[in-house]
Amino acid sequence: MARVLVVGGGIAGTAAALALRKAGQEVAVYEAHPDSAEDIGAFLTLASNGLRALAQIDASDAATSIGFPLTSMRVVDATGAESAHVPLGEAGDPLLRYRCLRRGELNAALQAEAVRRGVEIVHGARLASVEQAPDGGADGPGAPGAVTAHFADGGTATGDLLLGADGLNSTVRRLTAPAAQPCYAGQRVFYGYTADAPVSDVDETGCITMIRGSTAAFGHMTSPEGETYWFARVSADEPLTADEIAHAGPGHWRDLLVPLLRADPTAAAGIVAATKAPVLVTNATEMPNGAPWRSGRTLLIGDAAHAASPATGQGASMALEDAVILAKCLRDAPDLGSALALHEALRRPRVEHNTTVSGNISRGVHTSRTRPSGGPPPSRPGDDELIGQLEWSTSLG
Ligand SMILES: Cc1cc2nc3c(=O)[nH]c(=O)nc-3n(C[C@H](O)[C@H](O)[C@H](O)COP(=O)(O)OP(=O)(O)OC[C@H]3O[C@@H](n4cnc5c(N)ncnc54)[C@H](O)[C@@H]3O)c2cc1C
Repeated sequence: MARVLVVGGGIAGTAAALALRKAGQEVAVYEAHPDSAEDIGAFLTLASNGLRALAQIDASDAATSIGFPLTSMRVVDATGAESAHVPLGEAGDPLLRYRCLRRGELNAALQAEAVRRGVEIVHGARLASVEQAPDGGADGPGAPGAVTAHFADGGTATGDLLLGADGLNSTVRRLTAPAAQPCYAGQRVFYGYTADAPVSDVDETGCITMIRGSTAAFGHMTSPEGETYWFARVSADEPLTADEIAHAGPGHWRDLLVPLLRADPTAAAGIVAATKAPVLVTNATEMPNGAPWRSGRTLLIGDAAHAASPATGQGASMALEDAVILAKCLRDAPDLGSALALHEALRRPRVEHNTTVSGNISRGVHTSRTRPSGGPPPSRPGDDELIGQLEWSTSLG
């Protein structure tokens, strides 16, 4: 049994803790924030592949108890005409159908489940540095080394493996692979909620509408309670600066978006105009493919390793896949070094394919493999191969 230190209690870190616990490892999570719901504002869609990963660690309830299901996708062009209306993912299976939920709520539900299963989650523990024993690495059976996390409050923790699940601006990555930097993927992303969208602009519950507008890619869906969740991805050569994001007044982004969206006779402008709560904004950002994930006894997972632009809507689902496959690798491989190598060999092609597809959509680069509207998951490895990798009862050794 290995002792695993998980830095970051977001979706990747908490799911990894659940999976590692199920695989019989000793695990503790160290989260910088003092509580579990620091970004309750953002929402995301979990795709069938992410929900399949959750099911393998018996944590479906964490997702199905919150948010609402999505069973179909309507695609609308810039004239407002419908070009497609298709089932979404594994719509027939209540555990695997797409779900729209708030990221903070998913985090809180996963953390509550981890605590219920006896996982230690230490809040307010911000990683400051990592120290590795002189043997340096995880390679070789029985290597005696250890890794120690030092936290900003002076605390320390020592284990056999340290997982950097600390997101896009990962401290673990900065310490272990300082040359690997996230980069702008060509779009500014806005999102918001309104209960006052014009009735004519609201689709039936369970349907996500993707509008391929002339000035923005726009998505909207409405909860059973009548709240419309929407996002807009707008191409721009430069990212917004931290100052612009921090100092925009209330209503600033809405007032900027509405005239832009009015260029097309679609539902988008009316939905945004009806949004009274502040509109949230972020830059689409990705990790370049090929960035290192492993350094001795540290491994990056989730956004820390492979953040992708949000166009395919796969970041959280990929993080959940990482969690299950890593835990299986540690369970099945003969030693730590080969487990980490196997994890990377299985995960890198799939997540980098997603990063490429998503980045191409965000940058407006259309190839035969990209989908201008975003949507269902990238196709490598084949669904059957992925299902086999995720299936808890099969061996990866
Ligand atoms: C606008 C937008 C829309 C998106 N839409 C979707 C979508 O529809 N579907 C989807 O699947 N994904 C979506 N994503 C991506 C998804 O949110 C991420 O891929 C996912 O949350 C990654 O989880 P993570 O655990 O790797 O990172 P995070 O959720 O960022 O978690 C990292 C955690 O580490 C903690 N941390 C950071 N530094 C330290 C430190 N030094 N010490 C200790 N703890 C630390 C943080 O507090 C945080 O809790 C979207 C992302 C964006 C930006």
